[in-house]
Amino acid sequence: MRCVNCQRPLTQDFTLTALLSAQPLRLPRLGVRCEATFTRIDTHTACPGCGRAESPQLCADCRRWQAQGLPLLHHRALFRYDAPMRLFIQQYKGQGNYALHQAFWHLLPQPARGIAWVPVTSEPHHLQQRGFDPVLGLFAGLPLQLWLTKADTPLPQAQKKREARLATPQSFTATLPRHPAATVVLLDDLYTTGRTLYHAQTALRAAGYRGTIRSFSLIR
Ligand SMILES: [Zn+2]
Ligand SMILES: [Zn+2]
Repeated sequence: MRCVNCQRPLTQDFTLTALLSAQPLRLPRLGVRCEATFTRIDTHTACPGCGRAESPQLCADCRRWQAQGLPLLHHRALFRYDAPMRLFIQQYKGQGNYALHQAFWHLLPQPARGIAWVPVTSEPHHLQQRGFDPVLGLFAGLPLQLWLTKADTPLPQAQKKREARLATPQSFTATLPRHPAATVVLLDDLYTTGRTLYHAQTALRAAGYRGTIRSFSLIR
């Protein structure tokens, strides 16, 4: 197998612990060298509300969500949005290199009973333009539950400045299964202002979901 990013052959080196583990083994599709170009966020020193790197106290943005009466998502993210990660996203979402969708599957949380993994899905016209849903691709290593639908909005989040992002109106609707899991983990590629994920949380509540809602993204 070859690295999905640089096409060099993958040299796999699994520890005995990983091989003997009861969890299904996820083979990395990203080479060690490529993975090392990205910067991991240390969860021990990240903001307890949004996962922002090196913010052990609740950050000002999270205090603002709380002041609006929204329960914190206790968001967690794997990587910082630095230059190598911007390039990755540009190749994956901008240029539509779909092979990259498996790059981080081996780092995703392990599926567990009682948790529903609910991705934040694309708007219909983005899906049509790109031909694939980037968030569904990145998290397809998990048993996803498609409870959320997103209506078309005039401008994509990525083209907006911060204030405009925060002012984005709700465009999600949620449809719950008859017996929803006790915990939902919302999934997105990138946490920027948190606006999208808090809208998703509100849509789940509006649909009558009463369990715990957390969130997770590849990048913060
Ligand atoms: Zn590589
Ligand atoms: Zn925060």
